[in-house]
Amino acid sequence: LDVIRGVEPRVADAIGQEVEDQRASLKLIASENYASPAVLLAMGNWFSDKYAEGTIGRRFYAGCRNVDTVESLAAEHAKELFGARHAYVQPHSGIDANLVAFWAVLAARVEAPALQRAGARQVNDLSEKDWAELRRELGNQRMLGMSLDAGGHLTHGFRPNISGKMFDQRSYGTDPATGLLDYDALRATAREFKPLIIVAGYSAYPRLVNFRIMREIADEVGATLMVDMAHFAGLVAGKVLTGDFDPVPHAQIVTTTTHKSLRGPRGGMVLCDDSLVEQVDRGCPMVLGGPLPHVMAAKAVALAEARQPSFQDYAQRIVDNSRALADGLMRRGATLVTGGTDNHLNLIDVATSYGLTGRQAESALLDSGVVTNRNAIPQDPNGAWYTSGIRIGTPALTTRGLGTGEMDEIAALIDRVLTSAEAGTTSKGAPSKAQHVLDEKVADEVSRRAAELLDGFPLYPGIDLS
Ligand code: PLP
Repeated sequence: LDVIRGVEPRVADAIGQEVEDQRASLKLIASENYASPAVLLAMGNWFSDKYAEGTIGRRFYAGCRNVDTVESLAAEHAKELFGARHAYVQPHSGIDANLVAFWAVLAARVEAPALQRAGARQVNDLSEKDWAELRRELGNQRMLGMSLDAGGHLTHGFRPNISGKMFDQRSYGTDPATGLLDYDALRATAREFKPLIIVAGYSAYPRLVNFRIMREIADEVGATLMVDMAHFAGLVAGKVLTGDFDPVPHAQIVTTTTHKSLRGPRGGMVLCDDSLVEQVDRGCPMVLGGPLPHVMAAKAVALAEARQPSFQDYAQRIVDNSRALADGLMRRGATLVTGGTDNHLNLIDVATSYGLTGRQAESALLDSGVVTNRNAIPQDPNGAWYTSGIRIGTPALTTRGLGTGEMDEIAALIDRVLTSAEAGTTSKGAPSKAQHVLDEKVADEVSRRAAELLDGFPLYPGIDLS
């Protein structure tokens, strides 16, 4: 940090403070983790200075042999780890990986037939008339994705994201009575809507998805099945999700982030079967610019870590901890969406359980050293901004070594804060969905206990960033 401090001390201070904050708080954000020092060091180096547009061995820049090495290693580790036919490790983020996947499917299923009809080898060979027709056709495609309030992600065809502007989108959701995915309703919608792509995968669904059934539905209506496993990639890598619950053998294309339960650097990745290799590899220049070789190096290290047997133990402990947290919360009276969990996350219905909005609960917990995020629940009466839910996940605290005993105590701390917190008022005294009131004594007591708990599980021991 001294080198950075010599140039811009405020950045050095912010980095040091960030580590201290992460060390001192109970990090329960389901999409976060702690990457290992090996992953972090692989990311912070001179690869950052290199341009390497193209693919392995076929670059638009000279001097890329070391980039070829790390990109090949990352792709090989990914293929071995997930049993995939092909891996493309250039996407800079989950959104980028999804964009690459959408355009790969569009290229294979809309563009390629149009080129064939016109007798053209590539789009540059099309006449103006054929090109105009292809562009119209590309803009006329349909996607079926999981609804946002059931736990889907914005990139699965929703209007604020480019996917919602590219595709005519329809959603599938969960059964209002059980909160579980309703495959029959999904099948009926797919038959009627006939999408080009069915997207499976989620950001906030606490149960498993049966990808064998999803593929059957996709095949029946002629859709390509794409699975976005960003949230649960670590559970697939760690062989906790196998058979019908492992997306790789079932979907034609699978995308993921590398920084969530997979515990790698911030980034994305695409896996695919033989039918889409050529199109996926055109991610750059289709939607990506130059790859981030330093991040690909870190992906290779993280994927090598995930291939070690200890990662399977880690993945199992994530789920054990998640279940312990669910049991601890429900025993204390909390209502969980779907009544529990089968994966790394839980969704607490804080409106029903504690009379709070998600926003109020999130702030009250933050005051008490517990970092979570608010999340919509199915048919959320408070909408997507204030919400009625709190999403909690266990990948990060499991990395730190906390186990089921600690989870029960964390459930007690969360319950204590949310039972004590009350809805606040605006400055004019009107009821507010944003403000909360929490006795300072409760916040201090919970923060102190959280810090004591974490003291037993040091983060990056021996690394001094003061
Ligand atoms: N897909 C899913 C299911 C996600 O949950 C997220 C992020 O939360 C993304 C994609 C986007 O990832 P990124 O933030 O790396 O673009």
